[in-house]
Amino acid sequence: MSDAALPTRRQALAVLAGAVWLPVPGRADAALRQARHFLFGAPVDVRIRQGDGATVAAALDAVMAGLAQIHQRWNAWKPGELSRLNAAFREGRALRVAPALRAMIHSAARLERDSLGFFNPGIGGAVAAWGFHDDVMRPGAWPDVRTFAAWRDAAPSLAQIELRGDMLTSRNPRLQLDFGAYAKGVAIDRALDQLQAGGIDAALVDLGGNLAAMSRAGAPGWQIGIRDPQGDGLVASLTTVAREAVVTSGSYERFRMLDGRRATHILDPGTLQPASGLVSVTVLHRSAAHADAAATALLVAGPQRWRRVAERMGVARVLVIDAQLRGQVTAAMDQRLRFSSGAWRGRVDVV
Ligand code: ADP
Ligand code: MG
Repeated sequence: MSDAALPTRRQALAVLAGAVWLPVPGRADAALRQARHFLFGAPVDVRIRQGDGATVAAALDAVMAGLAQIHQRWNAWKPGELSRLNAAFREGRALRVAPALRAMIHSAARLERDSLGFFNPGIGGAVAAWGFHDDVMRPGAWPDVRTFAAWRDAAPSLAQIELRGDMLTSRNPRLQLDFGAYAKGVAIDRALDQLQAGGIDAALVDLGGNLAAMSRAGAPGWQIGIRDPQGDGLVASLTTVAREAVVTSGSYERFRMLDGRRATHILDPGTLQPASGLVSVTVLHRSAAHADAAATALLVAGPQRWRRVAERMGVARVLVIDAQLRGQVTAAMDQRLRFSSGAWRGRVDVV
């Protein structure tokens, strides 16, 4: 752990959780080009640090179009491919789905298994019942536990999905897909793949504080700050190597106030109650999709179980922060982080 100088200035986007790109003061970045949109309920930034203007502008447009398409097709509560499949599951029908969605279901099912079920994109029915399938987080009454009894007894799991040719069916009519904890990661990976296929290898894709970056062999990586979950400074910073994702799951960013209590949008699939114990989990991994699923799973697993789940999911670089603002970091993550005295009020232990 070093104590290198870190930007402690207020970040313009401090309302967002997760990671933020830090421009290196004094470094000429003449080739840096950027496009910004609003998708997945948050600002989306794509930055490319290479190439001539026209090529890069076309690449930025193509990547943004791809991200917008994913956002529209795989939203759990807006009409699209996913809502049609959920309707088919409810009604016991088989439905033909596009290969990309089949692939996402397949990889998510494996991650659900590896996470010991803490990551479970089949609990969309309960997420909706908590009122999280909405663009606005409305206050209200804390629901009675009985509201969720039927969902809990049905125990939805992606293992209940059957593939017949290119048709999908579910044995469980209460299985409702919600890729809120996964689709952003998948979208980030696809955006970088798309750029790489077009010959671009120095780029950063940031979906509301979840980001992945790539740099050319031998070229410097991207400076990334991990935001303080409860303040507007940074906990630490790191420099990406080759291609890497920094994904954060936080219980403090999207929540409803119910009877004066905060209910986070991340549910424990075992109880279908909001996760508690950890306020933020940041995962550094080659794949943004893997990191996205893992960050959610570890947040649900909580202070006692997150390390076991991280091991099972094969994520070695993890920073967690609990409700008392105590941080825990794996040794492999600690080697990559720079902590700055004064920037972060809490303490961080290497575990
Ligand atoms: P964020 O979307 O803020 O980055 P996450 O990646 O943790 O946070 O995703 C949370 C979303 O995933 C919720 O809004 C909900 O749609 C869905 N979800 C909630 N609990 C779980 C869970 N245990 N496993 C998988 N998906 C979940
Ligand atoms: Mg996630």
